[in-house]
Amino acid sequence: MQLLNGNEVAKTLKANIKLEVEQLKIAGKKVPHLAAILVGVDGASMTYVNAKEKDCREVGFDSTILRFDMSITEEELLKEVEKINNDTNIDGLIVQLPLPKHISEKKVTETISYKKDVDGFHPMNVGLMFKGLPCFLPATPFGIIKLLEHYNIETSGKNCVVIGRSDIVGKPMGALMLQKNCTVTVCHSKTKDLNSFTQKADIVIAALGIPEFLKADMIKEGAVVIDVGITRVDDTTSVKGYVLKGDVKFDEVSQKASWITPVPGGVGPMTRIGLMLNTLEAVKMKTILNPMVDRSIVK
Ligand code: NAD
Repeated sequence: MQLLNGNEVAKTLKANIKLEVEQLKIAGKKVPHLAAILVGVDGASMTYVNAKEKDCREVGFDSTILRFDMSITEEELLKEVEKINNDTNIDGLIVQLPLPKHISEKKVTETISYKKDVDGFHPMNVGLMFKGLPCFLPATPFGIIKLLEHYNIETSGKNCVVIGRSDIVGKPMGALMLQKNCTVTVCHSKTKDLNSFTQKADIVIAALGIPEFLKADMIKEGAVVIDVGITRVDDTTSVKGYVLKGDVKFDEVSQKASWITPVPGGVGPMTRIGLMLNTLEAVKMKTILNPMVDRSIVK
């Protein structure tokens, strides 16, 4: 078994992004500016937003976090999004999810200008992605593609099973693996006899959010296994009171897989890279006066 080391690859790609930012500065061009909207004080959301701010600082992006109280109304939040849409100084905008129940995530996501939608959630970007046209790709599937490319994992003609069909991971992941010439099966909570699919797969991407769901007897010898899941599981022996668990039972699956991502240190850091690459492209998009940057991965 070999490790698909997201931490290592992210480090390399981050250094490349930093270099590109320095070159933009030298050329007297604008440095990428990412804005993040955070509503409320959810611990995990605050951790994610702070990590993104740290990433920005490290590569030389400008960043702004707009924090709002839980009591903000949907109308007020939509106005804030519009303000950022019209702010020429800000290139990319993300809204940290989940939002409080009284605010429609769909409305907010669709109000972000698709040209600043560096999370790739806007229907315009989703449509462009499915067509294989230039767009902002959703960060997690984008990061996974970068990871597979880094390690030269063969995708053409391979059977790929994606477990999970969410809008942010499973569905776009399936679309991108199809563009990478895999034969793709997307499984979900209503799939019957899941094992019959996973056991035939050359590549299994687990994105369902059930800790240690994928066991060794569910995969074939030599499969490539990507673990997207991150679940906080209570653990009194840990200082934090919890440990992070992936969707793959790593100790046994790693004995059988040819390549596997660890949790943490696999998909997580690559997701953050996906976001940074999109933010960098958002600036280049303006510079080269192209309506959308060529991000098609179809060769
Ligand atoms: P989600 O809850 O929106 O979707 C889960 C999907 O899993 C659903 O489509 C459902 O049909 C499917 N599913 C549920 N039970 C199943 C079962 N028994 N068999 C087959 N399919 C089943 O979750 P999501 O937002 O796609 O996230 C999935 C996991 O990935 C979560 O643990 C999340 O925290 C993690 N995640 C990690 C990153 C990262 O950067 N590493 C990014 C996004 C999400």
